[in-house]
Amino acid sequence: MIAVSACLLGENCKYNGQNNYNRRLIELLEGKEIITICPEELGGLSTPRLAAEIIDGDGKDVLLGEAKVINKNNEDITANFVKGANKSINLLRKKNCSFAILKARSPSCGSKQIYDGSFSAKKKAGIGVTAALLEKEGIRVYNEEELDEVIFKEYHK
Ligand code: SF4
Repeated sequence: MIAVSACLLGENCKYNGQNNYNRRLIELLEGKEIITICPEELGGLSTPRLAAEIIDGDGKDVLLGEAKVINKNNEDITANFVKGANKSINLLRKKNCSFAILKARSPSCGSKQIYDGSFSAKKKAGIGVTAALLEKEGIRVYNEEELDEVIFKEYHK
């Protein structure tokens, strides 16, 4: 079972009500068992919603209570992100999910980089809140820019 960010499959769950449809990913997943998740919606946030970024750290720090997630109005929405991460991992555990392909750079789903908390499109190394919890629980996380790696490491087992 493969977990996939719902927005990558064309679901309009992105903060601005749009999606991140990725044709190559959809072709790669053909015939595979998948479960789609949108951690921010699972955490109770509505769509559309204000853009959010992590300040003072990354998703690992959020899980430790040492960083927070704010939206563009400077409202603290950390609890929604943590709730979405917990709901996601519970769903994936039930399905025996071994790896996930999640949207790059999202404060929930990003796995290598995230935006730096200044809402100025600047990126930094780091991981989103849900991606951090999945990795902590032993689920391998890739993003949609790493599909060659997915094929190499996961499809030839
Ligand atoms: Fe996509 Fe993840 Fe953001 Fe939901 S939380 S819109 S699945 S990147």
